Amino acid sequence: MINELIIRGPAVHGEAESWAGVDLHISEGRIKAIAPQASLPKNIELLEFPENYHLIPGMIDMHIHGADHADVMDASLDALNSISQALLKEGTTGFLATTMTDTSEKLTQVLSCVKNFMQQPGSGAEILGVHLEGPFISPNKIGAQREDAVHIPDIKLFDQWQKASGNAVKLVTLAPELNHAKSFIEHLVKGGVIASLGHSNASFNEAKMGIEAGIRHATHLYNAMSGLQHHEPGAALAILLDERVLAELIVDGVHVHPEMIKFTLQVKGSQHLVLVTDAMRAKCCGEGEFELGGQPVIVKNGEARLKHNGKLAGSVLKMNQALKNMLQFSHCTMQDVLKMVSSNPAKALKIFDQKGSIAVGKIADLVVLNEHYQVVATLRQGKVVYGF
Ligand SMILES: [Zn+2]
Repeated sequence: MINELIIRGPAVHGEAESWAGVDLHISEGRIKAIAPQASLPKNIELLEFPENYHLIPGMIDMHIHGADHADVMDASLDALNSISQALLKEGTTGFLATTMTDTSEKLTQVLSCVKNFMQQPGSGAEILGVHLEGPFISPNKIGAQREDAVHIPDIKLFDQWQKASGNAVKLVTLAPELNHAKSFIEHLVKGGVIASLGHSNASFNEAKMGIEAGIRHATHLYNAMSGLQHHEPGAALAILLDERVLAELIVDGVHVHPEMIKFTLQVKGSQHLVLVTDAMRAKCCGEGEFELGGQPVIVKNGEARLKHNGKLAGSVLKMNQALKNMLQFSHCTMQDVLKMVSSNPAKALKIFDQKGSIAVGKIADLVVLNEHYQVVATLRQGKVVYGF
């Protein structure tokens, strides 16, 4: 049985530098060596690509609801499988299955389904845990979430859900200005769960207090949060100014203006940003009417909007497109963008010793992009799971 593989041809993008004209050796699912091209030993499979292609680490999406007609809130193993298979096509090899604000019963059902899925993982992108987006959010910054299911932070409720998920909840989006938020944030931190500011109308000072209590992440910076008013700096400025906070950006050119993306990178730096898709089930399905969190959504011209009020309702963005947009909007380097799509999320999720960059000894979750940043092949644990 062949369990050794060499990838030859594309530029190999490491954490600090890129290499041309090298062979990347994979053995038993891990990166064994990055060495100058040499004659092939026997019985080793060779994957060869043009020199203007790119080899990057598998991308990790910390905020994704669905794809290919399926949604995490469907609470079905088939839906989770469809999402995880679809994500391979955009170069995502790991993700946080992201829930929507809903009733306690529904969330319990969804979380136990994720738990079951994680116990028998398939060949698709790996579910690395759950991002609980609400229900501890502000009704004043509801976005496309269900207003009637919003709840004040509640430790008991959270503990029930965490139990139902088999401790899979890794990140919780919450509004720090709500009652009981401080003790709730401290409870999350104690349990090793990332507290994220999002769907929040916090003032600058309220946001700062939340960060002091332990918030270390921000859910889709600028979207559904108090913004950058010069007389009244809101949560967005508190996030920009504090380098302890890793901020999500939806770089589809719709959720945040391209010039604002450029500004954010200049102020915050690539080590403190993470690109997410916040994608919903319509991703990969063309235009038409879909559903998100129980509400009808119209997808047109690459935008997903609630049918009744036109508010943005997630996205249909793909990670490889987010990477390409970031390079175009900000003119950042490949090393910068790879921090934002792979190493920063891996570090936040405490799996960077295994994943999140191309380095000898790490698990071979890898993506080959062509010169237009389209995904040509995706590998998980050294096996080609998408592409030829
Ligand atoms: Zn979302």
